[in-house]
Amino acid sequence: MDPALLVVDVQNELLEEARLDPPVETYLARVRDLIGACRKRGLPIVHAHYITEADGRGVLPHHAETGRRRCIRGTPGAAPPPQAVPLDGEYVFAKHSYSPFSNPDLRPHFVRVGADTLVIAGLYAHACVRQAALDALEHSFRVVIVEDAIASYDAAHAVATRRFLEDRGVEYLDTPSLLDRLDLRSDVPRVPPAASKAAVHPVACIDGQWRAHTGQAVVEQRNPSRWEQVLGQVPVADVETVGSAVAAASEAQRHWKQRPLADRIAAVGRWADRLKAQSDELARLAIEEVGKPLVETRVEMARMVESIQVALTYISEAEIERCVVRKGSGIARARRCPLGVVAVITPWNNPAFLPASKIAAAIALGNGVVWKPAIECPRTSIALLTSLLDVGIPPGLVNLVFGDATTARALIAMDAVTAVTLTGSTRTGKEVAAACGARIKRLQAELGGNNAALVTRDCDWPSVAREIAVHGFGYAGQGCTAARRLILLPAEIEEDFLRVLEDATRGLVIGDPQHESTAVGPMISMKRRQHVERRVEEGRRNGARVFQPELPDGLRERGCWMAPTIIRGLDEQAALVQEETFAPLLVVQPAADFDDALRLCNAVRAGLVASIYSEDAHSQERFLEEIETGVVRINLPTRGIHLEAPFGGWKESGLGPPEHGVWDLDFYTRWQAVYER
Ligand code: NAD
Repeated sequence: MDPALLVVDVQNELLEEARLDPPVETYLARVRDLIGACRKRGLPIVHAHYITEADGRGVLPHHAETGRRRCIRGTPGAAPPPQAVPLDGEYVFAKHSYSPFSNPDLRPHFVRVGADTLVIAGLYAHACVRQAALDALEHSFRVVIVEDAIASYDAAHAVATRRFLEDRGVEYLDTPSLLDRLDLRSDVPRVPPAASKAAVHPVACIDGQWRAHTGQAVVEQRNPSRWEQVLGQVPVADVETVGSAVAAASEAQRHWKQRPLADRIAAVGRWADRLKAQSDELARLAIEEVGKPLVETRVEMARMVESIQVALTYISEAEIERCVVRKGSGIARARRCPLGVVAVITPWNNPAFLPASKIAAAIALGNGVVWKPAIECPRTSIALLTSLLDVGIPPGLVNLVFGDATTARALIAMDAVTAVTLTGSTRTGKEVAAACGARIKRLQAELGGNNAALVTRDCDWPSVAREIAVHGFGYAGQGCTAARRLILLPAEIEEDFLRVLEDATRGLVIGDPQHESTAVGPMISMKRRQHVERRVEEGRRNGARVFQPELPDGLRERGCWMAPTIIRGLDEQAALVQEETFAPLLVVQPAADFDDALRLCNAVRAGLVASIYSEDAHSQERFLEEIETGVVRINLPTRGIHLEAPFGGWKESGLGPPEHGVWDLDFYTRWQAVYER
């Protein structure tokens, strides 16, 4: 048991209730004793305070009805009494609703401090305490209510509440019994936090309610920067759970699609604002879960917000419906209609930007969503969905199911799912394409890349070498648009170019992703690292030359770091050349001439991004004519996108309409022709 104390609504104006049982003085003495005892035992303590705004925001419905205003921000009524004043190091979370969990930062806080059990005290037993307990259960915490440190003004209701909560597994203990339990716990040698059994995440969010894990399989989630640390257990949603999520999305979408377009756009715009305000919190979660360096994570967060804002600027009545022909007394109109329920399946490497941009476009255009995030980033996903619910998007319109490939397969197979948007590896894309093909479902697939940077003599190649080191190895090569192959022309510059590239690679800061200066963080898992390292060893045995600077001391043992690696002399058909490694690894391919360079660029099955470094207009033109990728960059690194431009891979890197901006309309709507006399 790793408990934390949650003190709910112990505030002056809420203590003024005349019918309070026990009377206020008795009650406050008990609360003071409880908080003091928990402080002595080092429990994390959180105070949740009901706060209303001067302009009326946040007033509970029954207070609004009676015109009773309480706990206005900054007033003495909103403050706690001396017996419950938070000390330094204790957290206060404001809430505008019954449940403290309506504040999206509360749950991540408890997860951060490693709590698996919430000890709840406060006001009123039948109302906010009850809701706090229910939501804590939904979030997979064990719940203990301290029976002598709660109070109510509605005795019958408080008794019924106790029965109701006990039926659901909530324990009621008095303070001495609780303290016995805590003291017993401290006699037991504490498991080091790294090895502790971390919390089981909810299995799904359906109809706006988080569903607790109820015996489904779980997958252990580890911290890529501290591999011995288990961050949590992620449940794998079963078919039944997926079915409930799809049914909820279907039902909510029937109403949502009838809402005026302007309303839908405004609601999604509010989400973008909310995400902007929450960017730091999301970034913190994402860095811990996927090891993305801070500076890159900040870029992702900015892109997440911008992608929504840009998409919304392209959605207008004029785009949705138009008259296409008038003949005699008749007209024909073409209108874009929502698809229904869209399955959103996302990878871990952009845990916030990709899902947010897909979900925003889908719902702004009138669809419902069931989202299956990658299993590696549950906390970021929970925070993202919570923020969506907080801005008033109807519950059920966007549902989340955690899980792996089995969950995704079940989702795709549901009849009510009319379309699938997937970002992931090509292997996954092939299976999903087959499943969608068999059911004639619309698919947008953004898949793996094996991106080439072609460097010619006609450029400032020393600065290009430095740029490629940063963009090839940044985020440990786990950006989908990272350069993976370096095609050098002419071969005579190879030695000089590689010397500059190697120097620049040695200069990269490799380390903790939380640090501002870090360029190369860990890979996502030990398994991925071992896989790529085995391939590098294979190459070495077959005569390839490998450059690999030493990693800073201890990193390799601590987490999934792999040294940035430059490898040359591989056979063109070698797996490291042909397959996306998604690792800090650059393959060097010298070209005999420009034709050969173009051939090499295209001689892989992927076709996501390619770039050419050349000031020569003719070379640029030929590159543009012949390159087989969905994104072409001239004198720019392969990484970097504008959200107004279409983003989608060719060949095995993608299928269906590209993403972002105006292009979203092509995927998330279907045309209908309407003829009228
Ligand atoms: P992945 O393909 O393993 O998983 C992506 C998502 O698909 C996850 O939610 C996963 O659970 C689900 N999934 C896995 N197998 C499935 C199956 N058989 N059927 C249905 N769903 C399945 O990819 P990943 O490791 O999470 O992410 C890295 C990959 O994503 C890389 O290949 C990278 O290039 C690609 N990616 C592409 C883009 C792009 O825009 N082209 C962007 C980011 C990442």
